[in-house]
Formats: sequence, structure tokens, C-alpha cells
Amino acid sequence: MVEQPGRKLTPREQARREAFQALRERMRAQGYQEVDLMVDVVQANGMAVVVMLPFLVAAAVLFFAVNPVKELHIPLSGMVLWLLAFLMLMVLHEAIHGLTWGLMAPHGFKAIAFGVIWQMLTPYCTCTDGLKRWQYLLGGLMPTLILGFGLAGLATVQGSLWLFSLAEVMILGGGGDFLIMFKMLRHPQKSGAVYYDHPYECGLVVFEPANGDAPAA
Ligand SMILES: [Zn+2]
Repeated sequence: MVEQPGRKLTPREQARREAFQALRERMRAQGYQEVDLMVDVVQANGMAVVVMLPFLVAAAVLFFAVNPVKELHIPLSGMVLWLLAFLMLMVLHEAIHGLTWGLMAPHGFKAIAFGVIWQMLTPYCTCTDGLKRWQYLLGGLMPTLILGFGLAGLATVQGSLWLFSLAEVMILGGGGDFLIMFKMLRHPQKSGAVYYDHPYECGLVVFEPANGDAPAA
């Protein structure tokens, strides 16, 4: 298991870590094999730019094709409002992860937890229930689909550069999520596999039936 050096877990994270270790024992006893698909947070931030660059450029090309910009000046009041909107969107991003996973998780919203990696100033959402591959994928991509691509579409229709700049930042902010989802998609699908978001780190853990068939739960 990859541990962030020096990262001190909160009591809630410690509780989730213990619950996860118990789950790991149970799954192993049932004949599952564990595959860790973790992403290093520092590395993820750099890679996020590379991964999202084609989307950022495509959105910008579309926006400026529809809205030829004559005036790039945004007043100070607009910038303060921008910062407030950005902070709200960051919270909303995590809330959408929670909402999407919570609607599909066997224990519903009881399985959803939030936290912050303070060293990286990175808020996160996690789901303590096991999910199917497509469910994990959908919950992972949904915030960026709505607040990144959706907002970029709205900004383009409205012709609002202010809104569009927020959308671009939200697309960039989805880089870590996309990186995790790419890593998951590169890992071959195995029937009966259960997908768990890591309880306090960046990435996921897949439990796969060792013999290829789903063991009796
Ligand atoms: Zn996210």
C-alpha cells in the first residue's frame, strides 16, 4: 500500500483505514485477490495538466470560435466573485462525486465520506462501499462532466468569458480523477471484480476473484 510520507491521518481517516483493513481480510478469506491502482498525489498534479490539455484546448477553440473576444478585461469585483465561485465549485465537485456514488452504493449515502489532504489543500470524497466498474467510473467522471464540460458549454452559449475561465479551471481540476479512471480502464476487466475507492488516498483498490469466477459472497 502506498502511504504519503508524513501524512497524518485524522481520527475518521484512521477509522476508515481500520475498516478497510478488516474488509481486506474478509475479501482475502473469500478468495479475492487485491489489485492496488493508486496515484501519487504530487505526480498526479503534474500529470493532470498533460491529461487535460487536449480538453482545455478543445473547449477554448470552441468558445473563441463562437465568441470572438474583443475585451479581455475583468473588473476587480468580478475577480473576487470568481474566487468565491471557484471555492464553491470545488466543494460542489466533491459533492457530485458523493451524490453519484451515493445513488449507486449498496449502503447509499451512508457509504459516502469527505475529507481534506491538508498538505496538498486537496478536498476529497470517498465511497466505502464496493462498486461495479461502470459505477466507479461514472462517479469519478461526473463532477468534471458537469462542472467542466457542462459549464464550458453553458459559458460558450452565454458568451461569458468569466464563466468559461471557471469551467477551464474545473476541467483542469478533474485531471486527478481522469488519471485514476485511465489507470482503472487500462487494468483489464475481470468478471466478479469489486471496485473500492481508497479510504483516504488517491486511487482505488480492485478485489478480483482469484479463479476468475465470482466467489460466493
Ligand atoms: Zn474529483
